[in-house]
Amino acid sequence: MNNKLQVKFPSLSQNETLARSVVSFFALQLRPTVAEISDIKTAVSEAVTNCVVHAYPDEIGEITIECETKDNSLHINVIDQGVGIDDVNQAVKPLYTTRAESERSGMGFTIMQSFMDKVEIKTEKGRGTGVYMEKVINANNKENNAE
Ligand code: ATP
Ligand code: MG
Repeated sequence: MNNKLQVKFPSLSQNETLARSVVSFFALQLRPTVAEISDIKTAVSEAVTNCVVHAYPDEIGEITIECETKDNSLHINVIDQGVGIDDVNQAVKPLYTTRAESERSGMGFTIMQSFMDKVEIKTEKGRGTGVYMEKVINANNKENNAE
């Protein structure tokens, strides 16, 4: 049966580790490989870090993560009510960052796109951003699973 989870937490940087751990534990029911779990953790980390650093640059705001299993795929939505993104097409380009001065490399979205099967960004200036990601867990690879 398909399953769902929603978690909400403040945009404190110490919650990045918590967020990726929660999502990876949730993903275990799909019996992913160690590599698949690692991909999911990395993608969630990048999305949550973006909320902490960019969505709420001068305040602590709320981050919501929704996870869902659908058959053998994992669906994740990382949502903030922060500043929003001016130009999404530009934001997803490798090496594009609005925070070069704080040693950001502009690779977060590129990493999410390469580690997940689908990434969709919905954003509204001043209202916030939702990053939706999907990963199909290889059902044939049960020998090497991370459980
Ligand atoms: P890195 O992820 O390599 O540390 P980065 O965060 O700047 O650098 P990306 O994660 O690719 O790179 O994001 C690109 C840009 O998109 C950011 O510089 C920022 O301007 C914008 N951005 C990303 N996520 C959000 C968000 N949740 N809210 C507002 N702006 C965002
Ligand atoms: Mg980033």
